[in-house]
Amino acid sequence: MQTVGWIGLGAMGTPMAANLLRAGYRVHVYNRSMEKAAPLIEAGATAAQSPREAAERSDVVVTMVADAAAVERLLVLPDGILSAELNGKTVVNMSTIGPAETRGFAAMVRERGGDFLDAPVSGSVKPAQEGQLIILAGGEADVVERCRPIFDVLGKTTIHFGGAGDGSAAKLVINSLLAMVMQGISEALVMASGLGLDQGKVAALISESAVNAPLFQAKKGMLLQEEFPPAFALKLMTKDLKLAADEAVRRNLPLPVVSTVLNTYLAANANGKGELDLASVYLQLKEMAGMGPAAKED
Ligand code: NAP
Repeated sequence: MQTVGWIGLGAMGTPMAANLLRAGYRVHVYNRSMEKAAPLIEAGATAAQSPREAAERSDVVVTMVADAAAVERLLVLPDGILSAELNGKTVVNMSTIGPAETRGFAAMVRERGGDFLDAPVSGSVKPAQEGQLIILAGGEADVVERCRPIFDVLGKTTIHFGGAGDGSAAKLVINSLLAMVMQGISEALVMASGLGLDQGKVAALISESAVNAPLFQAKKGMLLQEEFPPAFALKLMTKDLKLAADEAVRRNLPLPVVSTVLNTYLAANANGKGELDLASVYLQLKEMAGMGPAAKED
């Protein structure tokens, strides 16, 4: 069994690392704020004092952090991953970042003698807890195969899309669709409100219809109660939409709905909803329709 270095103990990283421990892996954990490591250490993980130590003690070192700036920092810090001897080791980035940045990081790791995979995930906190994520892999096929036992613990399916950066590209595709569907559901509910319909009955209609979706079922409670504790923070989805829009411009791809949805998420961030769940885009649309808190005060 390979030894794993796990870097990044946020909403996703913590349950994923916990699943590896439960499956019997030796896991060395590192997080910028080390206090978050306490529950995993109690569950049998070892604390690494730096990203370098996590890499040195492991066969496979995983980064699961917010964005490309965080991944880069963990690689290039004086005691970062790249300061370790990486021959025979694999660095796997599971954070959502752009394909171009991914290819840059892959080159940096290979220069130090290591193998690199991008393996971002589709699925939120609950699938992470249940080991039911979808792993979107990019990199050499033999390296993917070597890491497959780890991916099998974390997810229900691993899809190998191609070379370095292709897993990250696939992640932008699925998250753009997720953001569009989330806005579509939200607009339907705003429309229902504007037409004077009962939200509970409209939710029952959607649930029975051809456009019912696991996403709707997962977010229905939040939408009806208008409470949005973050499973997937709106600011992270906004980051992903920006990456998707950048990539579309780079490739000369017109994506009209992605552009529109990005603008709604940008507005929601600007209005202080970044730390809420992405489903709070519904509140943004309500406010745009004059149904938000400002309207109530009038
Ligand atoms: P999160 O709860 O906000 O955790 C972010 C993690 O990144 C924390 O460990 C944080 O460290 C670390 N971090 C942030 N900036 C850093 C920096 N400059 N240097 C070092 N570490 C830094 O995020 P998450 O929800 O776990 O998401 C992690 C990744 O998975 C993101 O790329 C996200 O887009 C992707 N993702 C999320 C979901 C979801 O539903 N949440 C689903 C699929 C994919 P501290 O603890 O020190 O702040």
